[in-house]
Amino acid sequence: MSFNKKHIVSLLVILLIAISALSIASAYTGTGFSHNIPSTKYSDMSASDILSKYSDTECHVEESAVCTQVVDGDTIYLDNGDKIRFVGVNTPERGVEGYITSKNFVQKLCLGKTVGIDIDDSKHSDKYGRTLGVVIVDGKNVNEMLLKEGLAEIMYMPPSEFYPYNWANADTHVADTHSTSSSSSSSYDSGDSSSSASSGSGSYVGNANTGKFHKASCSSVSKMSEGNKVFFSSRNQAVDQGYVPCKLCNP
Ligand SMILES: [Zn+2]
Repeated sequence: MSFNKKHIVSLLVILLIAISALSIASAYTGTGFSHNIPSTKYSDMSASDILSKYSDTECHVEESAVCTQVVDGDTIYLDNGDKIRFVGVNTPERGVEGYITSKNFVQKLCLGKTVGIDIDDSKHSDKYGRTLGVVIVDGKNVNEMLLKEGLAEIMYMPPSEFYPYNWANADTHVADTHSTSSSSSSSYDSGDSSSSASSGSGSYVGNANTGKFHKASCSSVSKMSEGNKVFFSSRNQAVDQGYVPCKLCNP
């Protein structure tokens, strides 16, 4: 009798482990999502200009702290040590088109300010230990704003307290979370690597959409549209602004 009981208990334990492994597998990772909204779109707008377009959220502030760092459009760090992953949404990863625009948008709204978090009661954190939640600034839902602005795609991963489809427009992109294995960020910047010889006058050119920067002599620079070019006088200047070096020309 006690032997059978033991068996049942160990079966239950195995079942629980399997279930938790499955839920860990549905991680908040990149899907290769991109958009071509220029980084200049919001440069003349203040945070309050943007916030005033939106109505107050019904989400509740369960935690509040100062945002000390914006990692990208969907991840911020707080001064209480918490790392927040915006729930229900996904923005372009570093090096992917649209990364800078989405990141700058969140920076404008959150960086250095006290933000509120409505933590996902159904799933508190992701596999990286980041708290999953809605970020609230001046009573407005920033996750929702990212979707409505086209700066993020819907990434709905049940179980979740929040249903991001309610925040989106009809034309908002939806993440295909079944094909997250190997995203194709390498398709950008795939010009040939005939560069290294002349590094030019020491100037560097960034692409505001991809968030990459190049030596002025890189073949990618000639293919870049003028509107996306950002010029830097030094490598440090580019890095300081969040640009990542091109893998072809190694600036
Ligand atoms: Zn390059």
